[in-house]
Parts: sequence; C-alpha cells; structure tokens
Amino acid sequence: TPGTVVEPGLLDSKTNNYLTSLVLGDDEVGIAYVDITTSEFATTQMPLSRAVTELERLKPSEIIAAESADLSGWELKAPLTRLDDYHFEAEITRQALLDHFGVATLDGYGCARLPLAVRAAGAIVHYVRETQKGSTGQLTGLTTYSTDSFMALDMETQSNLELFRSHHSGATDGSLLSVIDLTKTSMGGRLLKRWLSQPLLDIAELVKRQDAIEWFHANTLPRTQAIALLSKISDLERLINRVKSNIAHPRELVAVRHSLELIPELIKTIESSPLDRTKEGLKPRPDVVALIAQSIADEPAASLGEGNVIRKGFSEELDKFRLASQDARQYLANLERQEQEKTGIRSLKLGYNRVFGYYIEVSKANLPQVPESYIRKQTLTNGERYFTPELKEYESLILNARDRIAELETSLFQRVCQQVAAVSEPILSLAGALANLDVFSSLAEVAVRQSYVRPELNAGKEIAITGGRHPVVEQTVTAGSFVPNDTFLSNEDAQLIILTGPNMAGKSTYLKQVALIVLMAQIGSFVPAASATIGLVDRIFTRIGAREDLSAGQSTFMMEMVETANILNNATPRSLIILDEIGRGTSTYDGLAIARAVAEYIHNYSGLGAKTLFATHYHELVELAGVLPRVKNFNVAVTEEGGEVIFLRKIVPGGVDKS
Ligand code: ADP
Repeated sequence: TPGTVVEPGLLDSKTNNYLTSLVLGDDEVGIAYVDITTSEFATTQMPLSRAVTELERLKPSEIIAAESADLSGWELKAPLTRLDDYHFEAEITRQALLDHFGVATLDGYGCARLPLAVRAAGAIVHYVRETQKGSTGQLTGLTTYSTDSFMALDMETQSNLELFRSHHSGATDGSLLSVIDLTKTSMGGRLLKRWLSQPLLDIAELVKRQDAIEWFHANTLPRTQAIALLSKISDLERLINRVKSNIAHPRELVAVRHSLELIPELIKTIESSPLDRTKEGLKPRPDVVALIAQSIADEPAASLGEGNVIRKGFSEELDKFRLASQDARQYLANLERQEQEKTGIRSLKLGYNRVFGYYIEVSKANLPQVPESYIRKQTLTNGERYFTPELKEYESLILNARDRIAELETSLFQRVCQQVAAVSEPILSLAGALANLDVFSSLAEVAVRQSYVRPELNAGKEIAITGGRHPVVEQTVTAGSFVPNDTFLSNEDAQLIILTGPNMAGKSTYLKQVALIVLMAQIGSFVPAASATIGLVDRIFTRIGAREDLSAGQSTFMMEMVETANILNNATPRSLIILDEIGRGTSTYDGLAIARAVAEYIHNYSGLGAKTLFATHYHELVELAGVLPRVKNFNVAVTEEGGEVIFLRKIVPGGVDKS
C-alpha cells in the first residue's frame, strides 16, 4: 500500500513516507503516523479544528480510518484506506500497543490519557502487521507529541511562502527549501523538511539549535570536515529498517559498515563543540563494523546464492564447498583438453547450459571419431552433444556444491542480518544524531555562503529586522543588486503596516521576506538580514490575492473571503498576518470597503491585535494611519525620470499619494 511500501525505487530519499491513522472523536481527533522505512512513530490528540493543518504538515501517502468514520467534508489529499471499525476500538488498540511494546501500561509513552491518540496508534500497529506479513519490528518506539509546541503552518501559508515548492515550476527549485537545503544525507534532508514544516515556539530548544549552528558557522575546518564525511554516509535509517525486515541486499550491509566506519572520525570533528546531545547520540559501533567486515566481502555480489557474498575465512564449511566446486570446475576445464587428445578431435568443446547441464559438443564432420563410451544427449543442426559417466559425476558434484553454497550463504547472511538487527535501536539513535549533525552543519554552511546572521529570539511583542532580504529572490536577481529593507512591527505601536506602491515595486517580495525571516528564525536557522530580533510568533497567516487558483471550483472572491475569515477567526496577538491585495476579487468600492473593514477589525478587535503587513493598491487606505494609532504607512519608493518609472526597491515611511 502507498503508506507501507519499502522499495527504495518507489521512495524519495529526502522525503518521509508517512502512513497516517485518523480517529474522530466528538470535538477532537487522534492522529498517529509512522514511516516504516525510518521507524518514526508518533501519535497525538488535538482539537478537530487543527486536524487539517496537521495533515497538511504530514503530507501522508496513505490515511487509514474506520469504516464508520464520517469524513464527508474532509478534503483528504492522500488515498484513504477504510478498515473495519474493530481495528480502531479502544480496548483492542490499547492491547495491541501493550502487546507490541511488551509493557503493562502506556504511561511511559505519554498517551495513556489520550484515548484518541491510543486508538490511532494501535490501529497503525494492526495495519502494519497486516501489510508486513506479521512483522512489526519497524515500530521500535512511540512518541506522543503536542501540536501546541509548534507554529501552525497551514497549506495556504506553505504554498504562498513557497516553502517546499515554487509556484513557478511546481518543483523544489525556487523554494525556500532549495536555498537552505545543503544537507548531505537523506536522513538530514528529511529532518530539515520536518523542521521547516514544524517551526518551534520553544526558545530554549531554538537557542540550542542556534548554538550548534553558530559553532559550525565560526569553525570552518570542522564544518568542512563534517560535511565531507557526511556526504559519504548512507541512509542508515532506511538501511537498518531493511535489515530488520529481512529484505536488505548484501551491498546494503556493506553500506552500513562503510557509514559506521566514519563515525569515529566524525566524532573527532565535533570534539570541542557544544553539541552535547549530538555527541551523546554519536556512538561508534565497532562491533557492527567488525561483524560485517569479517562476514561480508568488500564487494559482494548484488544478490545471494552465487557464493560471492560471504567473505573467505568466515565459514569453514562454506569455504570447503567453494573449494570443492572450484576443484571440480578446474577438473572439467582440464577434461576438455584430455578428451581432445584422446579422440583426436581438435574442435571438441566442453559446455554447460541450464537445461542440459554439462556436455561435450562435437561438430558433424568429426562424428565418426566419437568414441563408443560417449552417450548422446542432444542433436544440433551441425553437431551432437554427449555426456560421459565421468562428466555426470563431476556435474553432480558441482551442482550439489552449488546448492549447498547457496543454502549456506543465505543462512549465514541472514544470521549476520539478525545480529545487526539486534542492535538496530542504538543504530537508529545514531542515525538521528547524524541527521541533526547534517542539518546543523549544512545550515551553518548556508549561513556562511549567503551571509545570514543569528537572530535574537525572545518572547516579546516585537519583530525588528534591519537589512532584511528575501532568501530566494536575492538569488534570482543579479548578485549584489537585491535591496535590503528594515522592518519594525510591534503589538504596542506598529501593529499594522499598510504598504503601498505600484505594481512590480517589490511589495510581495517584502511581505514574504518578513514571513520567511520569522519562519527561518523559528526553525533555529540564521536569517538573511544584517540583524534581527524576533518575538516568537505562534502562527503565520498569509492571504495573497490574484492567485489564479480556481481549481477548487470556488470563485476567487468567495475563496478570498473564506481564507480571510479563517485568519480573523484564528489569529492571536502572537500571530503574524501577511495580507497581499485583499478585496481584489470584486468591484473597486466593495473591495476597498472589505480591505478597510479587515484592517480595522485586526486593529480594533481586542482578542486579535496580530502583527500585520498589509500590501494594497488602494491608496485610500493610507488614511487609516491618521485614525488608528497602531497603523503605520510605508511605501516602496519609485521615482520618475523622463516619464519612466524607476523602481528603487526601498521601503520608506509614508503612503503614496497617487495610484
Ligand atoms: P509587487 O508585489 O509590488 O507587484 P514584487 O514583490 O512581485 O512586486 O516584485 C517584483 C520584482 O521586483 C521581483 O520579482 C524581483 O525581481 C524584484 N524585486 C522585488 N524586491 C526587490 C528588492 N528588494 N531588491 C531587488 N529586486 C527586488
């Protein structure tokens, strides 16, 4: 099934493949997800209203839900597999989890008091067992998480800010991810994606990430060394899970060995760093390296059974059969010459094919010289094939040896796999540490290359950026020509910025750059600015007009109003709202009225008060600054020269006086 596939060819190495389970309660939902190729297994319970955003973050490849779950009105963007209600029952799922983890209570997993989370997770255990022929070894642990500790990023915002895909190409190219993803391993790639879809609200955790990045930023030699080593490391998470599921190929085991061999060197590169957690997780496994090195050839055959997988000297018995088979082959090689001499037939040939086994072939012209003792086996158009009792004897010797070699090799290989699988848990935590190391060092590398700075994070109510840049647009314009701009937003006095300016002046670029800088800061990354102080934001809302997305069948206007209502209903004083051209989908006066009403509501409604950037071509809105104390006007400077508009790309105080 799409959520349980393990074939590397069907998976994107830098993307998690999530199977998600959905359980509906009265006003809450349970959501659990697993990536059986990496062993990530987590569950949560949350208010119904947040479920869609969480599914949008996970981007599952398959969703399982009970037959009776009423999902009408849910726009699920993944194939839905309906299962018998029984799979989701409270007692059955709880028992499935207890049995699977061999524990008496779920307290240790943090979900004991979250019935919907338990049901969602238990259903996954059940489903994985069913689709993986009874094996659930990939489910090594379960974490319970809360979406409260993350910034919520809905689909609109992910897409408006082009976090993972650009509008233009629909591909990664031109997205924020494409600029900041310099990770070297698939594990790091997946982790960075996870960070980007789950910005944090936890300052202490963010500061830890910043410290790690800063260390790599400041220490060039360890950074380049770590990056070089990481680029030689394979996808341990997925490899180990293949070993555990008994589907690993011999060469994959060698890849595990080569990756593990690099760990001691990698540890040395970060010896003097403050990366305590990473150091702790980065435990070398000389035992596993030795085991694989002793048992598996350096360059094993792609598949088992031919006798070229197990290293010489590992198994006496196997070596004995290999030798026997080799001797017999050598004997047969000599036999050809012997028979040529005996019969005087120079063109006599010894051959082998799968159907007839070994044979002696004589061409038509020489048939009269064939000795009595040859027994006819097969007639060809221009000759005959024979065998002799002696040939038969060696043939069975060789075939017998071959069968034994195949058997022995397979069972030896499986035994090695089992031994490796037995320590899969420590190897998986090692893989986790590698992923972190990869993300830290690569984000530091990005920061160096693109001149990003470490933002200061606090729980305050201000966002202050000097010399901010748009991380993606600055790459597309001629080097050095991007014009940096400052931003100051504050719940106290600069809550709502009305940004005016002609088309193409750079309004949307500016709006998005502020959102992107905040977002990057909240994954722990450095940011494209000269300096930045960010009061953490609980959610970024974006409403970008004039997008030709009519696929949902709703009119532009209707869609705009629904999205705007969503923002007004859910934003908090800690949110950041980006509004680009509200009220476009209707006539000028209605549009202006709506735009103004929205701005007033955000400013005046006591529960809201979110920091807002509002770009508009309605220059009438600049009047608001005169009436509402926390509204500030800015515009993107342009000059006219000889009747031509020249874009200066500089955000300056004040409104524009003409459209
Ligand atoms: P608007 O929203 O005002 O119509 P955009 O933000 O789409 O304008 O900007 C138009 C183009 O101007 C962008 O594609 C980019 O190439 C360029 N641009 C925008 N901001 C800057 C800047 N700060 N420095 C240099 N070029 C910029």
